[in-house]
Amino acid sequence: MVKFFNLHDDIGTDIFDHRDSKPNRLDDYHYPKMKQGGIDTTAIVCCFADAETTWQDMVDQVLYVNEKIKESKHYAFDYSKDIRVFIAIEGMCGIKEGAREKIHWLYEHNVRCASLCWNDHNALACGAKSGNMPLTPLGIECVKAMNEVHMAVDVSHCCEWNFYDIQRISTTPILATHSNVKGLFNHYRNLSDPQIQMIMEHGGVIGGLPVRWFVTRDESKQTLDEFINIIDYIKEKYGTKQIALGFDFMDYMDDPTCMVKGLDSVAHIQNLANRLIERGYSQEEVEDICFYNANRYMETYLKY
Ligand SMILES: [Zn+2]
Repeated sequence: MVKFFNLHDDIGTDIFDHRDSKPNRLDDYHYPKMKQGGIDTTAIVCCFADAETTWQDMVDQVLYVNEKIKESKHYAFDYSKDIRVFIAIEGMCGIKEGAREKIHWLYEHNVRCASLCWNDHNALACGAKSGNMPLTPLGIECVKAMNEVHMAVDVSHCCEWNFYDIQRISTTPILATHSNVKGLFNHYRNLSDPQIQMIMEHGGVIGGLPVRWFVTRDESKQTLDEFINIIDYIKEKYGTKQIALGFDFMDYMDDPTCMVKGLDSVAHIQNLANRLIERGYSQEEVEDICFYNANRYMETYLKY
């Protein structure tokens, strides 16, 4: 069984949303599926998507997720239990002032990776769906504070202008936790060739995203093979050492059919490893893509 490092899954928000009805959801619901799939390390992402989000909303969710991880039988911030996790934030739209102190607070509460925005436009940044503009002064302060505490800067949702600003400002290699390539499918969330080149040349990592809407518009081609074509595309130019995975499963939310065929949930991710082998990838390349590349990038951040 190949082990996996998943750079993106909105599990933090999922368990927070079920806090009253299913307070043990992390262990009772998520763990068996992750165990079946072969997850070694996963991001527990808290997703904040709209302008109404307050800093207090972010604090409440991050505190809840910390509490649940600490009391979990299976998950820990290190390898003391079965699955290692780190908290990540998707969209820091609750930061409207005092960015530096807030980033420090998040870091102290085990957040090790964050994107400035989701698809929205907020006080820090602008999502790729919402336009194209520079980072705000508060966004720049955020990136600098993230560098200061050593929190990975995720560019997966930001617009191109933000992307190049972050690349220029950040003193650490940037990360696209869950993004595909525009060269194969011109979706606003996918990365252009110059963006891919920029990440690769600066030692960053790209997490491929097997959510079918970002693989191809043609519904009949939303398959595992079509997703592997995206990995092939990056591999042809840059090899496999900076390719990773950010699955972004949604079967546990509202859409059980959001993934490419064959990857219905995290329980089925060995199908990807097996298909990569069938497609001619070496065992070492498969292990790199599924685990070691993300691990190499993130391990410097995962200090507690
Ligand atoms: Zn996302």
